[in-house]
Amino acid sequence: MDIGGTKTEAVALDREGRVVAGARIPTEAGADGVVSTAERVIARLAEQTGRRTAEFASVGVGIPGRIDRERGEVHNAYNIGVERLPLARRLAEATGLPVALDNDVTAAAIGAAHLMGLDGVVAYLNLGTGLAAGLVIDGTPIRGAHGVTGEIGHLPVDPLERPCPCGQRGCLETVASGSALKRYWPAGGDHPGRLLLAAIDAGDAEAEHAFEQLVRGAASCVRLLALTLDPHTVIVGGGLRLLGPRLLDGIRTALDSWATQSPFIDMLELSGRVQLLAADSSAAAVGAALASEGRRR
Ligand SMILES: [Zn+2]
Repeated sequence: MDIGGTKTEAVALDREGRVVAGARIPTEAGADGVVSTAERVIARLAEQTGRRTAEFASVGVGIPGRIDRERGEVHNAYNIGVERLPLARRLAEATGLPVALDNDVTAAAIGAAHLMGLDGVVAYLNLGTGLAAGLVIDGTPIRGAHGVTGEIGHLPVDPLERPCPCGQRGCLETVASGSALKRYWPAGGDHPGRLLLAAIDAGDAEAEHAFEQLVRGAASCVRLLALTLDPHTVIVGGGLRLLGPRLLDGIRTALDSWATQSPFIDMLELSGRVQLLAADSSAAAVGAALASEGRRR
């Protein structure tokens, strides 16, 4: 399952990793709320598949925050009202099933690579309210020594040095993310991504300028991932993927324009490596389930 700030999405996978059932319910905030949300969504999947909960092999959870996978604890998941929660133990006690936790972006990276049939080195760029990346090599995620692999959103890059919630200034997240878009285009309200393309089509010059800035920021992220990890593929996911083919075209166009200025960047053929996660993808839920099976640690 993928436990998000507003909703929790869950899927049941068969032995081959195919989705056989899916459910989506609102997330209850707070430690007890999160545990009860998880229990209810598992019960929903059991109902849909005509099985008892005990018949599932395992449960995988993708959740925001810092994850201590060994202890099965979630830390600092403030957007769901959790400071510290031993979620794996509590959910295992409630269901009798083995439970594994992952950061939501890592889970999405695993799921996206699986659903899109991508082998080799796959970088996943999550353009959501915040900004982060995940890394998967032949289906196996790289989590790092302290679980912060891919936290590129907090790499300071911008000379304008706008303050970031992490305490630094000029982080990549202040340039390329949903929160950055909100600042580029205040007229778009709390969910500017939903209104942006319609506003551009209606001739709103500020919306168009905001989109261009967002796209350049996203292209910078792709270049950063390419130069640090040299992936075969960079998947663009997160809520802003709903901007669709125009987002992808914009990123590719920015990368191509940098390639015309630099033989080095040209040689890397960056624009051909970028793909967009499908709008209706359940990548994080699928990835969390796959990572719980023990064969993809
Ligand atoms: Zn930051």
